[in-house]
Amino acid sequence: MTGPLPPAELAAGSCRSCPVWCDRVVEPAGCIESSCPMLYVHEVSGRRFFGCMRRIFEVEVDMERFQQAERTHAGFGGLRVARPPIENCRVAIAPSHPDRAERPCVAPDFLFSAQVPPRVDDDGLIEEPRDA
Ligand code: SF4
Repeated sequence: MTGPLPPAELAAGSCRSCPVWCDRVVEPAGCIESSCPMLYVHEVSGRRFFGCMRRIFEVEVDMERFQQAERTHAGFGGLRVARPPIENCRVAIAPSHPDRAERPCVAPDFLFSAQVPPRVDDDGLIEEPRDA
């Protein structure tokens, strides 16, 4: 499929319009750093889990495992967006197969709909992620 995406697909958490496959993800580290009022925490059998009251990401995350991941170089990363993010959300675009880019992005509205879009080269091709 080529050409602009219909609005319903633009609102979704992923774009499959070319072989690259990009997902819009929200980074829970941003929820915690901003002390978002939509963030909730609860305890089950002595373990703490957190989630989003707006269900912008749908899963609940084990706080201890999240903190362990955040101490690594890669960090916890992002969770696929399930509902339209709000201003408070730290949103990124995660290309699943950047090596498949053969031509410029066909859905730039999706690609640049996040605070942290992927890098593109001078030809408009999505670049492989680099280490910071
Ligand atoms: S609204 Fe956004 S920033 Fe707040 S908890 Fe949900 S995903 Fe995180």
